[in-house]
Amino acid sequence: MIKTEYDIIVIGAGIAGVCSAFFLQQKGLSVLVVDRSGVAASGGSSAAGAFVSPKIGKGSELQKLTNEAFEFAKDFYLNNFPKYFTQTGIIRIPKDNQDAQKFIEYEKYNSSKREWIDKDKFQSYGIKEENIGFLFYEAGVCDAPKMCSNILTNIDFKQHPVEKLIYKDGYWYIEHIKAHKIVLATGYENTLFDMRYMGVKGTWGSRGDYKSSLNLKISMHKKISISANIDGIIKLGATHVKAKDPCMACDGKPLKSLEELASTMVNTEDFILQETFCGMRSGSKDYFPLVGDVIDVEYMLSNYPKILKGAKPPIKKINNIYICNGLGGRGFVFAPLMGKILADYIINGVEIDSRVNPDRLFLKWCRKSPDLIR
Ligand SMILES: Cc1cc2nc3c(=O)[nH]c(=O)nc-3n(C[C@H](O)[C@H](O)[C@H](O)COP(=O)(O)OP(=O)(O)OC[C@H]3O[C@@H](n4cnc5c(N)ncnc54)[C@H](O)[C@@H]3O)c2cc1C
Repeated sequence: MIKTEYDIIVIGAGIAGVCSAFFLQQKGLSVLVVDRSGVAASGGSSAAGAFVSPKIGKGSELQKLTNEAFEFAKDFYLNNFPKYFTQTGIIRIPKDNQDAQKFIEYEKYNSSKREWIDKDKFQSYGIKEENIGFLFYEAGVCDAPKMCSNILTNIDFKQHPVEKLIYKDGYWYIEHIKAHKIVLATGYENTLFDMRYMGVKGTWGSRGDYKSSLNLKISMHKKISISANIDGIIKLGATHVKAKDPCMACDGKPLKSLEELASTMVNTEDFILQETFCGMRSGSKDYFPLVGDVIDVEYMLSNYPKILKGAKPPIKKINNIYICNGLGGRGFVFAPLMGKILADYIINGVEIDSRVNPDRLFLKWCRKSPDLIR
């Protein structure tokens, strides 16, 4: 039974929203999650292959953060929802010979548990590959909708499109339901407040689930992701088309290119398409997640016009509005840690990690945006 008052309402029931709700409720708040569709039913989380693996590279800040999040996510899923996270291991395969050279350099920056896979090992796993790759054996694959639904067990959920939020007497109202605080976990759509400074953009992708008897025990990522065979289903997925529109016409063509690439990696002869999924994932301007307060942009621009020329006035936030977004192509990796960071901030006042605090983007946006009135 939905109540008329909560401590906090989370808008968006993708992986960002459900993880935020989980940690907020765990810390004792009464929480309602609202989504216009269902739980992981329409946004990026509905389409995600939900591979959970570390990031390779040369030790960038984003790689470090991703790998902290990976360790946290893996333990979170295994300890709380092991039925919906299959630790298949994921092999990271170079895109081409040139990329393979970089893998040797990446070696010293990889703190995650791994082993090298050579041509013979690839063959033994049923993978057609001449180069070397990394097997991250603690990595795995979530069942995205079931994982999201189970994270929400014991948390109230309401299906409702939020058109506007009204602030009155210290409460935010969504129609007749009120709460002191709101978390925006709305993915690529952010129309409720002016949050242009965060630069959230959508990238479109697709996934196909194929029935197959191929004995594929390990998941892999090259230009596309291919899952291990889990209960007779192999998932193929990729996101790479920058897009503004909610969804592009899905005529099955996107899957054709995935199928072609997959056939160069594994034996796809008996693959039978069972279901197609399409969706948008949301990324921030600098590819780091967005977790924390939302700045009152209208107030700042009208009260401090010199901000456009580099002034640094005190920043005003919108009362009790928070965000968890911008998880990019790794929503299932980032969401548990980001949900915890947000809950620690809201309830215990623990400072938000500066790498994910959206404040980092505001002053630069003011200085650099030609569309702002000067
Ligand atoms: C094809 C594809 C493959 C992917 N593969 C992987 C992968 O292997 N591993 C990985 O970690 N990540 C992957 N991703 C990325 C991952 O899916 C996203 O990072 C993640 O889903 C983002 O979650 P979210 O909760 O931020 O947003 P979403 O899942 O988009 O959720 C936002 C929710 O907010 C709701 N909403 C928005 N506005 C309103 C409103 N006004 N009122 C009510 N409800 C609203 C929407 O209905 C939606 O359900 C993939 C994405 C795609 C598209």
